[in-house]
Amino acid sequence: MQNEPYNSCVPQYFGPYRELLFYEAEVTLIDPAIAIGKYQQQNLIHAAEYKQFLAAHCLERHYSFQIRRCDNVDCCQPGTKWSWLPDPVIDNTGNHYQPFETVFGTETSEKDRPSSQNQTLAAVAQEQQGCKNSLLTAQNVRMTVKCKECEKPRCVYSKLKLNPRDIRSLRHTLERYDYTCGSVITPDGDVMQGKVFVRLQMSCGTHIEFPFYSSNIGRPDICCHCTSPNAGKDENTMKTHRVVLPVCQNCVPKGIPTRMPKK
Ligand SMILES: [Zn+2]
Ligand SMILES: [Zn+2]
Ligand SMILES: [Zn+2]
Repeated sequence: MQNEPYNSCVPQYFGPYRELLFYEAEVTLIDPAIAIGKYQQQNLIHAAEYKQFLAAHCLERHYSFQIRRCDNVDCCQPGTKWSWLPDPVIDNTGNHYQPFETVFGTETSEKDRPSSQNQTLAAVAQEQQGCKNSLLTAQNVRMTVKCKECEKPRCVYSKLKLNPRDIRSLRHTLERYDYTCGSVITPDGDVMQGKVFVRLQMSCGTHIEFPFYSSNIGRPDICCHCTSPNAGKDENTMKTHRVVLPVCQNCVPKGIPTRMPKK
């Protein structure tokens, strides 16, 4: 169809199209509140009978949608009631999915769906981290800590401003324990545990965090990959993104981290 003009024509009210119209009109049997042709979420928000229909006949998953007859003889013709196709379920080893025959006919959920496991990972990381990732913002950056391995400054976050005593305790802890990327900053039982946090989901290969640059606590011109000073922001990238991290000439191949594309 590309580059080829096309014509639209008035629909013909006979043959297959006519059948289609009748067929489409049946949505009002499911719920008279549904207007023909209007099936967006906002249109269906008040269609209570439609929602009941979904609950009785349909199973909606991230990657699938199933529909089957219900048990109500006033609603559906009696017949074989098929089991829902099962979700993938991980076996006891945690490395494989169970065979179809094992899980078919059992009640399953989406908890083992590959893409939902990442959410679980994030949830686990947040639990070990001690705070939600949403707390890790520029306004909560109170100081930085240097990684013993890569020497990048990492942000130390706290909901409340740290008082001099907090800072003293934290310094004391940091003198006794080396910090490396991806670990917690306070050992178990430390007085500052639960008060200060570092981002857990990162490694020495991760560039300096965005909040570092927007917090006024760190130098705004150090390369986000190697910390060398006087790194610039790529001008072309700044045309397309509102937030661009400074990257030195040597580190350009590692990529230029950006946020907030301009529309
Ligand atoms: Zn039914
Ligand atoms: Zn590191
Ligand atoms: Zn660099």
